[in-house]
Amino acid sequence: MYWMDMTEAEIADAVGAFGVPKFRIAQVQEWLHKGVRPSEMTNLPKDLRAKLDTIPFGGAVIFDKRVSPKDGTVKYLFALEDGNLVEGVLMRYSYGNTVCLSTQVGCNMGCKFCASTLEGCVRSLRPGEMLSFIAEIERDEPPAEGKPRTVTNIVLMGSGEPLDNYDNVVTFLKRVTSEQGPNISARNISLSTCGIVPKIYRLIEDAPHVTLSISLHAHSNEVRSELMPINKAYPIEQVLEAAKAYADRTGRRVVFEYALIGGKNDSEADADALAARLKGLLCHVNLIPLNPVRERGLDGVTRAYAHRFREWLEARHISATVRREMGADIEGACGQLRRRVLNEIRG
Ligand code: SAH
Repeated sequence: MYWMDMTEAEIADAVGAFGVPKFRIAQVQEWLHKGVRPSEMTNLPKDLRAKLDTIPFGGAVIFDKRVSPKDGTVKYLFALEDGNLVEGVLMRYSYGNTVCLSTQVGCNMGCKFCASTLEGCVRSLRPGEMLSFIAEIERDEPPAEGKPRTVTNIVLMGSGEPLDNYDNVVTFLKRVTSEQGPNISARNISLSTCGIVPKIYRLIEDAPHVTLSISLHAHSNEVRSELMPINKAYPIEQVLEAAKAYADRTGRRVVFEYALIGGKNDSEADADALAARLKGLLCHVNLIPLNPVRERGLDGVTRAYAHRFREWLEARHISATVRREMGADIEGACGQLRRRVLNEIRG
């Protein structure tokens, strides 16, 4: 067991086992909520801190950091206690700051355009590790004057498939939205999935207030299966049915991510077919010009072209936006920074 993964009761038991007065338990709980490790629990006696340190903390430390001179986006590479590296990004918007978090080291989903999945999934992240990312970011970038927090919004869109790490992700969502924890509103959290349909239905029950994003990327099963192996298990029809169930149950629109790939899914006929698929569904389409990955032979499109595609959708009454490009100058795209650093380390 790791400190950062423990429930209140488990912390009480673990601290109590060191034979300390009761008020120490509350102190430790408070520190752990802030993601602080025992060596830095400054109001505890040194010998108690040393005792607490005999149990592994289970968090992350910042291993590398790049700041975009263009838009202030910060790309973090976190080191986990087993030596694994995983990415996170802090993006600054007018309404607050969004962090993009990873849910796994690598990914098993095998999407053809994605750098995170090239070497498969090394392991899933624990709830305490994901909470620790937020704590480390807030330590590194303290809140602006008069603001209680740096991080106001979360998107689970880093490396990994959140619904392939279901229990840990749901525990993380419960803790990150709790009053004792970071207390981030579920409405400010988006979870992005490649479309593991049965898990989407479970999520509707377990976390109905979280915004559901689904990576669609194609309107036909033929193209989607070519790009995303998961489509062979859960074809588009089933994905859209699950999306409808989410919209019906929550009254909130589903966000579909659609990466525009030159010559693959980006024609006006594609926009037409996509609009026909989505007709009548409470949804929004987020267009992303594909970030070309060197290892794969897939092209992007220009932002101007993405806006044309958006107009084609809007002419067909589908609401759409072109995703803002944050940190493109610092390898903001999925898995890119981690791969670069790993390649450097491995020589
Ligand atoms: N596994 C989840 C979340 C991680 S990826 C999912 O599949 O949704 C976050 C988003 O970035 C997904 O929509 C993913 O398809 C997209 N993405 C991955 N590689 C990309 C690339 N090279 N260019 C543009 N979008 C990419």
